[in-house]
Amino acid sequence: WTQAAHLYSSEDPVTILHSGTVKQTLQNSSSAWLVQFYSSWCGHCIQYSPTWKALAGDVKDWEPAIQLGVLDCADEKNFDVCKEFGVHFYPTFRYFKARNNKFDLGKPYRGANRELPTVRQVMVNFLQNHSQEEWPPACPPLESSRSSDVLALLGKKNQQYTAVIIEDENSFVGREVILDLMQYDGLTVMRALGSDASLLEKLGILSLPAGYLFHPNGKHELMKVHKTLRFFFSSFLKLLPEVRRKKPQSSRSPDLAVQEGDTAATVWKEFDKSKVYMADLESGLHFLLRIELASHQTLEGKELETFKDFVTVIAKLFPGQQPVVKLLETLLEWLVSLPLDRIPYDAILDLVNNKMRISGMYLTNKLEWVGCQGSQQALRRYPCSLWTLFHTLTVQAAERPDALANTGLEENAQAVLQTMRRYIGSFFGCQECGWHFEEMAKESMDQVTTHNEAVLWLWRKHNTVNNRLAGALSEDPQFPKTQWPTPDLCPACHEEVEGLHAWNEKEVLAFLKRHYGASNISPKYTA
Ligand code: FAD
Repeated sequence: WTQAAHLYSSEDPVTILHSGTVKQTLQNSSSAWLVQFYSSWCGHCIQYSPTWKALAGDVKDWEPAIQLGVLDCADEKNFDVCKEFGVHFYPTFRYFKARNNKFDLGKPYRGANRELPTVRQVMVNFLQNHSQEEWPPACPPLESSRSSDVLALLGKKNQQYTAVIIEDENSFVGREVILDLMQYDGLTVMRALGSDASLLEKLGILSLPAGYLFHPNGKHELMKVHKTLRFFFSSFLKLLPEVRRKKPQSSRSPDLAVQEGDTAATVWKEFDKSKVYMADLESGLHFLLRIELASHQTLEGKELETFKDFVTVIAKLFPGQQPVVKLLETLLEWLVSLPLDRIPYDAILDLVNNKMRISGMYLTNKLEWVGCQGSQQALRRYPCSLWTLFHTLTVQAAERPDALANTGLEENAQAVLQTMRRYIGSFFGCQECGWHFEEMAKESMDQVTTHNEAVLWLWRKHNTVNNRLAGALSEDPQFPKTQWPTPDLCPACHEEVEGLHAWNEKEVLAFLKRHYGASNISPKYTA
């Protein structure tokens, strides 16, 4: 089933339906569905597809309750099924209730307003229209709780947190936060109405919406969020200690487990998530140079070119400790001076492995993960350090544009990104990750014209990956994949425009430069 000519691809967080799957998917489903029947030649559908993709990303956490699907009626394999569903115009939107065991044409959504926040609210209303028998089993209650039930929680100890969003009756924030957290264990989210003055008084609430948090130990307080917006509430709750994303039942994810050899239990290291750790960057370089690349016996042709450019970029831009930078510079000089078009990797290893600590060149040969620690052996670690390395390099290129002078890369604002793209494509052990990354690069990397845009491009694409991987098996439950930086790290990065979460990219850029800047890299835990 080729997606090539269609408006949606398997990279998008929507389910692509077709004649062979649509009926069995919609019938007797444990979740409700909102399906867009579109036509790939229809101009409106083409224009609307970015909104639908953005909506799907926005409500991805709601999937066990309600899912988004698309079906291309311009594909001749789907002609009959579109006729059967009585689709005459494009796009046509239909809702399908959960737990319906009969073939059903769905309920049309004919609203003229198809903006993301409106459709999201219509989805909430549609869910609430399910009867008790039809209710999607995974969907938490969405009706508002009574004030007395909320007040009864005061001072009580509980197994887990309870968060209450107190708001106006017609506000959707509470229900959206309930759905955002439905895949998380360790807390219950409720909604209560602010029309009860005594509730507001007892909880000390002065404006709506407000969030109130009951801790398991009986402590209770107003939720400390910078802005009382859906994204801020949800992000705050997902990051509470002991709140974890539920493990997926089954989900395929590429093999990211790196063979690190040392399986001895490691001691947890305290760290500050607002810092970058040199130990992660050095461990990443050690793994990359001595393990990942060493699986290539010889480097020649394009691979050798890629390796040379990669070493150029890190030798010139890596804001590391002197012995590491010296090692990288020596490696670069050696590579540039070699007249060979084929290098046995052992020769590179000899240089990298040299024990010339005294001569001032040295790269650790231990894996010491800090900000990239995982709660289990196979999680986080090397891929985390690789992202960290490339973000650091894009920021260095923006802060020190002259650093690449006389390398042939100095005029190129995409130098770091293109080098990363080629490294990932040729050497990164997770091949499927490489394919995904190449798709994103093909789509828009060539539009980057300044070093600042390069910093933002990588940030944006990393968030796209985070969104796709949220809930996947490769996600560490202690480090849920979120849109980053979270509001606690950068409140000014987040805004809401007409009910929709929006990034303030000027603030994001400034934040990224601070976060990945040389002065924010902690040497703690390095040799
Ligand atoms: P990571 O995503 O590795 O992030 C590391 C750190 O970077 C975070 O802790 C945070 O401090 C910071 N950060 C998070 N988001 C951003 C952002 N938007 N901008 C800047 N900094 C940020 N895994 C798959 O299962 N499938 C894939 O297709 C896949 N593709 C990948 C492609 C590339 C190029 C790389 C390097 C990795 C890929 N991975 C993929 C691995 C995956 O993205 C994670 O690296 C891995 O699951 C470890 O996750 P983590 O929790 O450590 O956070």
